[in-house]
Amino acid sequence: MSTLTPLPAKVDIVVIGGGVLGTSAAIFLNRLGHSVALIEKGRIAGEQSSRNWGWIRKQGRDPIELPLMIESARLWQRLAEESGEDIGFGVNGTTYLALDEAELAERQAWLDSAEGYQLDTKLLSAAETAALLGRDDRRFAGALHTPSDMTAEPRLAVPAFARLAASEGVAVIEGCAVRTVERTGGRLKSVVTERGEIECDAAILAGGAWSRTFLENHGIYIPQLAVRASAFRTGPTPEIHPGGLGATGASLRRRPDGGYTVARSNAATFELIPAAFRHFVPFLPVIRKRWKMLKIRGNSEFFGPLGHHRWTGDQKSPFEEIRVLDPAPDMDLLETVRATAMEFHPGLGPIEIVEAWGGMIDVTPDEVPIIDEAPGIPGLFIATGLSGHGFGLGPGAGMLAAEMASGRTPGVDPSAFRLSRFSNVGRAAA
Ligand SMILES: Cc1cc2nc3c(=O)[nH]c(=O)nc-3n(C[C@H](O)[C@H](O)[C@H](O)COP(=O)(O)OP(=O)(O)OC[C@H]3O[C@@H](n4cnc5c(N)ncnc54)[C@H](O)[C@@H]3O)c2cc1C
Repeated sequence: MSTLTPLPAKVDIVVIGGGVLGTSAAIFLNRLGHSVALIEKGRIAGEQSSRNWGWIRKQGRDPIELPLMIESARLWQRLAEESGEDIGFGVNGTTYLALDEAELAERQAWLDSAEGYQLDTKLLSAAETAALLGRDDRRFAGALHTPSDMTAEPRLAVPAFARLAASEGVAVIEGCAVRTVERTGGRLKSVVTERGEIECDAAILAGGAWSRTFLENHGIYIPQLAVRASAFRTGPTPEIHPGGLGATGASLRRRPDGGYTVARSNAATFELIPAAFRHFVPFLPVIRKRWKMLKIRGNSEFFGPLGHHRWTGDQKSPFEEIRVLDPAPDMDLLETVRATAMEFHPGLGPIEIVEAWGGMIDVTPDEVPIIDEAPGIPGLFIATGLSGHGFGLGPGAGMLAAEMASGRTPGVDPSAFRLSRFSNVGRAAA
């Protein structure tokens, strides 16, 4: 697994992008009997898949995603075991605290919407919440709690999965961008990388925040924008909750190193790249609903590479300009989050920002992924738009994409993930 791995001239299926989705898809495709190359422009999990909070949750999801997430949770458990490595994996629950009765009603509304999926989620009273957190005050009005939810350490998990893939025979190649795909008779026949062409029967594009740029070069328009999110880690602290602990203002996840990863949900910076203007209108509802702490940022350093370009297979592509998307964290925001976390949870003691980072989240207008065959390019499958909650969904989404690319009947109904649910999608010229 390196930049020195020889590029195969031909495989059955190429996976473009070594995040949680692409890496999982590569494992499952290989196990379905296909020869597979997993091609990553930078390093495995260099982008969102190592920068996230590490929550693997069913709780709080759009119910439309729940069947896929239930399957994904099962796959997480399996991959964590099969990797044979300590990836900080644990079944230690998600808890969303409610600061007041209005928030508690919101938590209850979600629970009602998920009725029918046999989840172990419960609404806890103020007393039960205090007991769960081992404190004797009534700081919180209650909480939504799912004991079967999980966490894992993002910097460890996907690289371990990639090593598992390589050990099972997947050609895992880092530091190699896929520039374009080639067709014959309209159907995909190969992918063109910066190191040469790989002939293949099918390809899965799991390019995270880069998928829209990749597809636009082929005349396919998907509604997908990038928002920048920030997080930090503390040094070792007393444990106040073993899993994911969310609250408006500050959310925490216990880390295997004895600290917490801390961030704020619904806080993001919207990058004003050209696609932002083209796609802004379909995104208005999600922006209003979700990103209450949205900042708009012009002069993005990603303007060029994430913006509009056209290139051919023999020209340098935007994916070679930025090997690893490494956006700067919003330190003002994180200072506020740090103070809020200490205020909510005195049991943490004083916490410091030991390390802070940013990550570029790829969002669709309904915050549900796109997992579908590309319009106009049979053989090219799009698996992207995990919309800020795809670490948990990654193995399930990878399995679904793998099943579709290998022509099998998917285990989970894919209809909710079709690209055609959006009205402003483009078609590639034949
Ligand atoms: C701060 C933050 C917190 C989050 N917290 C959570 C959480 O707690 N729980 C959760 O479920 N989700 C969370 N998420 C979301 C989650 O991280 C993502 O949804 C998920 O990692 C996306 O996985 P992916 O494989 O689709 O994309 P990515 O991880 O972004 O991987 C895509 C990969 O494709 C590569 N690539 C792109 N184009 C090319 C090309 N042309 N050639 C070769 N390689 C290419 C990129 O270099 C990249 O490595 C969070 C995200 C962020 C940023």
